[in-house]
Amino acid sequence: MTDAQRPSGGLGEATIGEFAESLRGELVRPGDSGYDEARSIWNGAHDRRPALIARCHGVADVRRTVEFARSEGLPLAVRGGGHSIPGFSTVDDGIVLDLSPMRGIRVDPGRRTVTAQAGCLWSDVDAETQAFGLAVTGGLISTTGIGGFTLGGGIGHLVRRCGLTCDNLVGADVVTADGRYLRADADENPELLWALRGGGGNFGAVTSFDFRLHEVGPTVFAGLVFYHGEDAAQVLRGFREATAKAPDELSMVVNLTTAPPVPFLPEQVHGRPIAVVLGMWSGRAEDGDAATRPFRELAPVVTDLFGRMPYTGMQSMLDPLYPRGMSNYFRSAFLPDLDEAAAGTILAGYARVPNAVSEVHVHHLGGQMARMPADATAFAVRDQDYLLNVVARSAGGNDFPAVVEWARTITDGFGPGSASYVNFTGEAAEDRVRASYPKDTYERLVAVKDQYDPTNLFRLNQNIRPSR
Ligand code: FAD
Repeated sequence: MTDAQRPSGGLGEATIGEFAESLRGELVRPGDSGYDEARSIWNGAHDRRPALIARCHGVADVRRTVEFARSEGLPLAVRGGGHSIPGFSTVDDGIVLDLSPMRGIRVDPGRRTVTAQAGCLWSDVDAETQAFGLAVTGGLISTTGIGGFTLGGGIGHLVRRCGLTCDNLVGADVVTADGRYLRADADENPELLWALRGGGGNFGAVTSFDFRLHEVGPTVFAGLVFYHGEDAAQVLRGFREATAKAPDELSMVVNLTTAPPVPFLPEQVHGRPIAVVLGMWSGRAEDGDAATRPFRELAPVVTDLFGRMPYTGMQSMLDPLYPRGMSNYFRSAFLPDLDEAAAGTILAGYARVPNAVSEVHVHHLGGQMARMPADATAFAVRDQDYLLNVVARSAGGNDFPAVVEWARTITDGFGPGSASYVNFTGEAAEDRVRASYPKDTYERLVAVKDQYDPTNLFRLNQNIRPSR
């Protein structure tokens, strides 16, 4: 493709050339050999064609890209790990600010903190912090980026012991819409830090994150236990009872899914509904067998894969089950209880599952997450003991509309106004964003938005609109 034939978002070649020259990283454009790889994100449902992809190598590149997007009036998509479910990290005819080359990490074992650049994945952070027997709450899948994950909240296997990821965010470096480079911590711009802890990517491009760390592992007691799908009601009932007595070191999830054809499951269950309980005991590994036992005796067991393993092993164990490229839609609802009515809604919904790759997850919350005051961070829904996440997927894409509808019907069963988790929401509709925050939290977020991004340059996200 010649330069004259490239779609360039209406920009002149001289303007683009000057911008490319000013970057330390590469500027990828339609027609470049790496364009298709550079434009793709994890969720195959979003096949978009940006005019420019700026692969940023440092803060200078980030500032330059933000300034360029603003001055040229280009829609701006910010990308960390590229796992956005609604596809916020790509855009048709706009510019992608790609932070993925920025993966530097510095652990301070003495102070128990880590500073991680915004392109890091959880596998990067876990590897560096575990070298010192330390960790912060990370994702269930290690290929997820720390950026979108932290800014939306961050729920993982340490959530009950260490709180949400954003609870452990003690500082951040941020490039705001006007190109300023700001520090957000307890002393400087504290209200910006409050907003970054759950308010999403609304306030600027975060270039690095500082987290508080906790002693974890390196060996933990973790894994999965499989029960027959016919016993799902009994499993949910028992899960509720076991979670009521669970210590903070224990974080557990129930997953209603279809048994994959894997060697550790008997052939008779392959392709049939199966109920999986998975999770981690992050206390002393030698106490793990007894601590997890109540979750491993909920019904007749098909296979029990709980045992001692490296923390990083558990953090990456499920990665192959969530490959890039499938069409994905998530929908969530916080639940105050997993009583018979809630379990009934979930079971009836799962009974209508449209294919073998879609599933429902119920996360047990509480513990340290619930002890944080609701106004301490923008993530304010802390009094709900469970989170339902409907993971609606399609391998080929043809049945995707039906799959999306299925997910919506299940969560709507809990009432259209039920609170949802921004990171487990596959859409950007304003009512869903509002449903993620209590009213006073939402209004406080609007005030921060007014201060740091009054023109809504950062709008490809679960958008908090400025008031004017
Ligand atoms: P990206 O697509 O890169 O970013 C998403 C959006 O976040 C961006 O468009 C932008 O608006 C914003 N953003 C990202 N980085 C920055 C930055 N540096 N500065 C400003 N804005 C930024 N969530 C959980 O809580 N727990 C889980 O266990 C979990 N597991 C998941 C597993 C899979 C397979 C997937 C796909 C998602 C999972 N999620 C989980 C949801 C996840 O938290 C969100 O999808 C999150 O947005 C991913 O972050 P990312 O940086 O990879 O995404």
